Amino acid sequence: MKKILIANRGEIAVRIMRTAQRMGIKTVAVYSDADKNAMHVKVADEAVHIGPAPSSESYLVQEKIINAAKVTGAEGIHPGYGFLSENESFASLVKANNLIFIGPSEHAIKVMGSKLAAKAAVKAYDIPLVPGTDHAINDLEEGKSIAKEVGFPLLIKASAGGGGKGMKLVNEVSEFEEQFRAAKSEAMSAFGDDAVFIERYIESPRHIEFQVLFDQHGHGVHVLERECSVQRRHQKVVEESPSVKLDENLRQKMGADAVKVAQSCNYEGAGTVEFIMDATGKYYFLEMNTRLQVEHPVTEEITGIDLVEWQIRIARGEALHLQQTDIKGRGHAIELRIYAEDPDNNFLPSIGTLSTFKLPQGDGIRVDTGFEEGDEVPIYYDPMIAKLIVYGHNREAAIQRMHYAINNFKIEGIQSTLDFGHFTLAHPEFISGQYDTHFVKNFWKQGDNEISELEQVAALVAKRHWLRYKDRIKLPEG
Ligand code: ADP
Ligand code: ADP
Ligand code: MG
Repeated sequence: MKKILIANRGEIAVRIMRTAQRMGIKTVAVYSDADKNAMHVKVADEAVHIGPAPSSESYLVQEKIINAAKVTGAEGIHPGYGFLSENESFASLVKANNLIFIGPSEHAIKVMGSKLAAKAAVKAYDIPLVPGTDHAINDLEEGKSIAKEVGFPLLIKASAGGGGKGMKLVNEVSEFEEQFRAAKSEAMSAFGDDAVFIERYIESPRHIEFQVLFDQHGHGVHVLERECSVQRRHQKVVEESPSVKLDENLRQKMGADAVKVAQSCNYEGAGTVEFIMDATGKYYFLEMNTRLQVEHPVTEEITGIDLVEWQIRIARGEALHLQQTDIKGRGHAIELRIYAEDPDNNFLPSIGTLSTFKLPQGDGIRVDTGFEEGDEVPIYYDPMIAKLIVYGHNREAAIQRMHYAINNFKIEGIQSTLDFGHFTLAHPEFISGQYDTHFVKNFWKQGDNEISELEQVAALVAKRHWLRYKDRIKLPEG
């Protein structure tokens, strides 16, 4: 491959281009109306306009992406994360057009894209699963009787769910009917598939995941774990590696299970096997993400492995020469996701212009971003504007460096999760390492409230009107 197209935007598009360019591969960006001045367009060797701002009319339109690859002579397509990255029909279309999809096979995407199909696939491999159902539940009465067997609290989960969406907590049987109906209808509207199933709600859970890398010749390894338990709305905000919860024995055991999960779908490329761990240290397979993960840099920082480079080499058919014993972590890395959100206001999205955007610099500090000072944060896409990654010789050093880096990261014009980062990394619970996925709910002053899609949109619309008309609006005195 001498030229690849990156079917994405923002920090991930920029990050993929940097590795490709280092490897001597030319890069093609695609962009919507909202992104015509975006950094990923400037970093790319060439760029193709693919339509209006809404992703349903640009970044998600498969034919436009394929055409852009054809007119520029790109030989491969990297989908990044989000958008078309976990869409098996896109992977097929890429191949049908004699292009290389830099990712796993359609089969692997399909199996692991459905949480139920994934559970079925790994069953033969003796992988621990969260107690619950292994099939879609359509009937309310059946659901209720299974719920009583599984016990409360429980989760009703959308099989096709992702991005922390499509989960309903049910505390007792009287809540079941309402949550069941809501789960089904939300799954249908968000994912086009109303299959839901039941999982026991793990109390005091930790989210621990393993990176895997597999070549096309059946050889694969795991590339250690990432601890991702600081979450808001079931979505990660702070990630670190290694996890304080794992000793060498447990790491090897979970890593071996992650490798088996990948084998269960003949995985190729970089992927992530997610586990949930309860307070007693028992762990269960949650799902597999068949793509590059947002938090992959923490793995890169402690192992020195460039995961995007390996994605490209594997897609070219190269053998993965790494053996499991070659993979060693050194020191400690932490990532803070910088979201254009207001942590003091339910983490509602916060848009506007980045009137100040100054990145911290120094040893052991890495910033992955697709924005620069003066850029507008568009309302159309995921609100993550940057990732701040720090490395230290141990966890304490990494935490210290993160505070230093946050202090030297200047963002004005929007609200962000920078200060939330200070709060988290200074919190005794985080410092002790003994935190779970309820950290935000338990300790952040505003909690971790569920907000509906409607509230998110309403906040954005209100903000947009405010920015447009604020100079004309006369507020009453006092
Ligand atoms: P990670 O597991 O890598 O931390 P996230 O859950 O934060 O990933 O999701 C990464 C990106 O993909 C975000 O932009 C998120 O909104 C998007 N995403 C993930 N899964 C889905 C899905 N099923 N539907 C829509 N968007 C998704
Ligand atoms: P998604 O596809 O949205 O990433 P996951 O199944 O990976 O869905 O779950 C996302 C998060 O939701 C987990 O990291 C965890 O915090 C929480 N979660 C999921 N399943 C359970 C469970 N059975 N018990 C407790 N928490 C859960
Ligand atoms: Mg997940």
